[in-house]
Formats: sequence, C-alpha cells, structure tokens
Amino acid sequence: LLLDLIGRMKAKAERFEVAIVPHLNDAVIWADRESLVHIMINLLDNAIKYNLPGGQIVVSDHEAEGKVVIEVADTGIGIPEEARSKIFEPFYTVNKDRSRQTGGTGLGLALVKQLVEKHRGTIELISTDDGTTFRLCFPSFHTASRKEAPQ
Ligand code: ATP
Ligand code: MG
Repeated sequence: LLLDLIGRMKAKAERFEVAIVPHLNDAVIWADRESLVHIMINLLDNAIKYNLPGGQIVVSDHEAEGKVVIEVADTGIGIPEEARSKIFEPFYTVNKDRSRQTGGTGLGLALVKQLVEKHRGTIELISTDDGTTFRLCFPSFHTASRKEAPQ
C-alpha cells in the first residue's frame, strides 16, 4: 500500500527525492484502507508542500514493542517551537504567509490525528535540525487479539 501511494505522490513530488525504506513485509495494521490512504496522502502532501527545492522525503517503517511504527520525514522548512503544540488543531496554520502561498486550510493534520486515533494509533511530531518527522504508531495486529480490534 505504501509503495503504491508513494508511486502516486511521486508525480507531484518529482522535484524532490523520495525514498521508501520498508522493513516490514508482513506487518498488519487494523485499519480501513481509505483512512490509511488519507493519512499518508496528507502527511506526504505536507512533506512536499513544506519542503525545500532539492529536499528529501523518507518514509520508513519498523516494529517496536507490539507497534507498527511508520515515519514520514522531510528536510523542509520545519515547524517553529511555539507552533509545535498547535499543529494538530483544526484550522491552525503556522503563519498566514505560509498558507497563503500553499493554500492550506489547516485541516489536514487535525483530520489525520482523528483518523489515527480512531485506529487506536498515535501520531507525534519530531522536529529535527533539518526538517520535520511525523511518527505514527499503530497496534500491531500480530500481537493484538482479534477481540481487541476496534469494531
Ligand atoms: P491542509 O492540509 O488543510 O491543506 P495545511 O497543510 O496548512 O492545510 P495542516 O496539514 O493541518 O494544514 O498543517 C498545519 C500547519 O503545520 C501547516 O500550515 C504548516 O505550517 C505546518 N506543517 C505541517 N506539516 C509540516 C511539515 N512537514 N513541515 C513544515 N511545516 C509543516
Ligand atoms: Mg496539510
């Protein structure tokens, strides 16, 4: 699924170098396909929109402590410290100039967070010196029993 999505996004992202680092061939997440697509499209859309010319986007996954962890990392403009606690709020954009240029409504991440949580996942922002990483954690279906899966 990830490979497929990245393939589709690549057309849009051809100015950037996009790398996928898949480690898990058999990871299973309990999620509906549409939600997962929505989540990834939004994160990749941001990673492209707020990137810099020649920037990189890396999508990777691994499994840790019964969780499937997916990371979307970019080498873009980053998120200022004072904004980091607010970016998941509906209609929040870091500054008006940024969204005027890019046409964002500030709803993308609010929706992503809602969808992730609906699937018993978590999303966190990791700010690095050279960009932004979003880390998603979902319960691994290998370790979760069927009974525990959300209805
Ligand atoms: P929309 O997604 O609704 O089109 P948006 O991209 O502005 O609009 P969000 O996706 O919710 O809204 O993101 C909120 C704000 O967080 C953005 O306005 C942007 O400033 C900042 N942001 C989000 N992702 C990144 C990123 N990867 N790098 C830098 N800033 C980001
Ligand atoms: Mg967005």
